[in-house]
Amino acid sequence: MKKLFTIFVIALNCYGGMGQSTFQIDVVNGNAEIDAASTYCEAIWGEYLNSNVPIKIKLYYANLSGSTLGITIPNGRRDFPGAPIDSTWYPTSLANALAGYELNVGEDDMNIFMDNSANWYFGLDGNTPSGKYDFVSVLMHEIAHGLGFMALTKIEGGQGSFGYITPIDLAPLIFSFPFPNLEGKYSVYATFMENLSGNHLDDTSLYQNPSNALASQFTSNQIYFNGSFSYVANNNQRVRLFAPSTFEFGSSLHHLNESSYPAGNPNSMMTPYIAAGESHHHPGPVAIAMLQDMGWSVNTDASFEDVSEIQPVQVFPNPASTFVFVQTINHHNEEILTVMDMQGRLVFAEKWATDKYLSVENWPDGVYVINYKGYSRKILKIASK
Ligand SMILES: [Zn+2]
Repeated sequence: MKKLFTIFVIALNCYGGMGQSTFQIDVVNGNAEIDAASTYCEAIWGEYLNSNVPIKIKLYYANLSGSTLGITIPNGRRDFPGAPIDSTWYPTSLANALAGYELNVGEDDMNIFMDNSANWYFGLDGNTPSGKYDFVSVLMHEIAHGLGFMALTKIEGGQGSFGYITPIDLAPLIFSFPFPNLEGKYSVYATFMENLSGNHLDDTSLYQNPSNALASQFTSNQIYFNGSFSYVANNNQRVRLFAPSTFEFGSSLHHLNESSYPAGNPNSMMTPYIAAGESHHHPGPVAIAMLQDMGWSVNTDASFEDVSEIQPVQVFPNPASTFVFVQTINHHNEEILTVMDMQGRLVFAEKWATDKYLSVENWPDGVYVINYKGYSRKILKIASK
């Protein structure tokens, strides 16, 4: 089933951080609320990342038996033209961005499974009621895994390893792309992993792969991601990863440490757990910097506001279909409201002295920016149907 696309509106602080990548989320067994949430997540992630190649996601709304809210399986490539590090796995979304063209024609970049038995809140406003899980927060988190937050680690028979995960480890999940033979290679994420002493876990002179030594590192509770951008974003400290004494396949090492970045911390999106009633719609500066360390070109100034915040121009509803309601302040002082497309062409200009509807029905699909009194809001109209 194809998602139904809608227009929706998000706010943007500054004109400079324009969307630099596009996402295509194909929802299987979804509904209109999931489509709207997906579109919202596409737009936020699209602001942060630069890529000429669309990022293709297949989202399965499926029964995960209530044990996990979401699971992401990234597609991967290594040793592609432009690969910064040899013999190292990159998620295909990043590999494509680095190569500058689509390496995996006909294949999705990631499969995301969202549990259809969870008590979800599908609203886009982050006002998640207690007792419900915020779908947008979890989907934002899962997309980050597909963009690079993957360690390819497991412990089997007491031995810790990188790059020996097979589809059997992930059963009963079935993927839309051929699962690569990982051949014991490290992921680009793993190349930044080190212990308290600064010993890199991919240093095979210290830690054979696989080995008991790696297993004890994985469960040492002292594993860090040490990259130059994330070090700065994390107040000149290495980023502490989640490495509990009991290894949790799929959670350990793929996340920021829960207690270092608790709920309320701007970087809490990439911790392994989310509580009911909790919302975080932005990856936070540390996660963005980690993606930058891995090779992503990022827009660090891509900062969004909640549409509920009072600003000189507000646009409702969110999502919207054929019209948006444009609300402005200072009605006594007439100002011109303009709308431009992403090529900078003026598509609408009118003195806007009152709150009223603006028809967007005939606008071509794409991204638009409404400007009023120096403030802008972004309208995303993605292909209809
Ligand atoms: Zn996760």
